[in-house]
Amino acid sequence: MSDGRGPDWERSSTARVLPPARPRKLAKVPFVELADGRLQGVVSSGSDIGRVYVSSVEAGSHTFACSTNNNRPCGGARGMFCNHILAMVNEAVLQYGGERVARYLKVEPDEPTGQAIARDMMSTRPSQGDSAAAATVFSQFLRHLAYLELPPTTAPLPEMQWFPPTRAVV
Ligand SMILES: [Zn+2]
Repeated sequence: MSDGRGPDWERSSTARVLPPARPRKLAKVPFVELADGRLQGVVSSGSDIGRVYVSSVEAGSHTFACSTNNNRPCGGARGMFCNHILAMVNEAVLQYGGERVARYLKVEPDEPTGQAIARDMMSTRPSQGDSAAAATVFSQFLRHLAYLELPPTTAPLPEMQWFPPTRAVV
């Protein structure tokens, strides 16, 4: 088993190092949905890995809210969209497509990018709402995480049929 360079298992174990996981978008905006008349989601803190923000923008009025999962107000969301809301809009465009997001939020941007959609919404000087919805959004996120932890399978999950992908999207 040994040829002077250490046991075979030791050399092979160092050779078979798994490549590092690619950095995932999930890390920045792990959850976003168009539901309950809002674009809403969960956004990681840029500085504190243990903290997340729950952000939302209401369709039509563009009333916005951002707070931590412990219901502390976001310091960046004073009178205008904070970076969390901007990140959430960008992620929604990636996941749902810009035109669908714009239609849902009832804006008509020059181009269907996250930046243009956010700019359009901010140009109407939307007001800041309370964070009443944050608890609901956060519990949806936790439920979403629970599904991510299920072992991979191709069999249908009966519970998931309660959540068709088109839910609440006009
Ligand atoms: Zn924020």
